[in-house]
Amino acid sequence: MGKSDFLTPKAIANRIKSKGLQKLRWYCQMCQKQCGDENGFKCHCMSESHQRQLLLASENPQQFMDYFSEEFRNDFLELLRRRFGTKRVHNNIVYNEYISHREHIHMNATQWETLTDFTKWLGREALCKVGETPKGWYIQYIDRDPETTRRQLELEKKKKQDLDDEEKTAKFIEEQVRRGLEGKEQENSGYTSQDKSVRPKSLVCN
Ligand SMILES: [Zn+2]
Repeated sequence: MGKSDFLTPKAIANRIKSKGLQKLRWYCQMCQKQCGDENGFKCHCMSESHQRQLLLASENPQQFMDYFSEEFRNDFLELLRRRFGTKRVHNNIVYNEYISHREHIHMNATQWETLTDFTKWLGREALCKVGETPKGWYIQYIDRDPETTRRQLELEKKKKQDLDDEEKTAKFIEEQVRRGLEGKEQENSGYTSQDKSVRPKSLVCN
């Protein structure tokens, strides 16, 4: 294969496709460049900067895919967290919102074939709670933010402290009641704790 064959738009397009860096509506994921139309995309594909990227990608396609996968995952999770918190939501709702952003990473540049693949992966990696329903896949963000975790721990600690305090108060009241009852019993039998403590003295005095 001569150099000119290697550089034809068709050959380049095929190579991008085989690397999983396929164009989508004249967007070059590899260079992260949006072209206005087919002609613009063709021109871009023949540009020097694109060809440099292409050489880099062909030398290490895995590195590009890893990079795009990580970007995709981070952006997707960030959107999920920011928009829906820890609420359960259909994966398609999040995805549609994600791809409405102009700068989004296209899924065909990532390691995941489909949104379902990605969703299952999120579940396996314990990044989200995921579940399949007759209506499709639902996801739920798991908040592992250090600040949130710290707050949760503090809340739990405070709860435990409150419980301990309640328990102490309950024990104290119980003790008071028990003493009160004992006092009553002694009163009924003719002796109070007061009598007990003073009687020996009075006996001595007598
Ligand atoms: Zn390009």
